[in-house]
Amino acid sequence: MAGYIELIANAGVLAAAGGKKVLIDALCGDAAPFAGAGAALTEELVSGAGEFSRVDAMLVTHAHPDHFDLSAVSRFLRAHPETQLLTTPEAAAQLTGVLQKDAAGRVFSAPAAAGAVSERTAGGVAFRAVGLRHDGAKFAGKENLGFFFVLGGTRFFDVGDAAPVEANFRGLAGVLGAPDVLIAPFPFLARDSARRTAERWIAPKTIAAVHFPPQEKDFCGWTRQTRRAAETAAGEGVKAALLPARGDRLEF
Ligand SMILES: [Zn+2]
Repeated sequence: MAGYIELIANAGVLAAAGGKKVLIDALCGDAAPFAGAGAALTEELVSGAGEFSRVDAMLVTHAHPDHFDLSAVSRFLRAHPETQLLTTPEAAAQLTGVLQKDAAGRVFSAPAAAGAVSERTAGGVAFRAVGLRHDGAKFAGKENLGFFFVLGGTRFFDVGDAAPVEANFRGLAGVLGAPDVLIAPFPFLARDSARRTAERWIAPKTIAAVHFPPQEKDFCGWTRQTRRAAETAAGEGVKAALLPARGDRLEF
């Protein structure tokens, strides 16, 4: 096994390959119907248990509670001097407010205006950050970043809560290159129009779907719908992986 991504909680994943570990949106809270990391798992992360013993870089796509728990991330950074963090100006300002001088040289922000592309190295990993408009009309002004990075030769692209629309992604594959693994909320796979937008403009080899509600709160059957869509995607030449629960992994 050269590497893997593993679901931590909600849209939070650990990407590990090439001797590097990147945590994305993993220290998150509850936002019904979505469930955050919870107290026990948060303590595992903060205390650096097992696979969390050394995390090179932490990414936060945006400052919504189901992606970012300010208190937990602040505690994590205090406990992990090896970890550098890259996020939106909004989340970086919140972290700097808590960490004060401890944030210096550890907490970086990237421009989050829609369409902005920038480069920044954190934890020895080169990231390209892309401002992507958040999904949903009421969140249209929310800063949201996508992150493109390469670990051990595998190209990852995590889009946070980006709207799965052409306006966000048109021409982007020409700038970033096509990712091996697109990490995205499940509608990118489950909704036909969203999946076709992703296939055309992001052109991933594999779509890894995250941001599922817990099974007992999946009243709309989103997980089942996404599973069906994964079969359709396979017919369209795109592999799909569902990561609905803690510990679910895509290995490569
Ligand atoms: Zn959000």
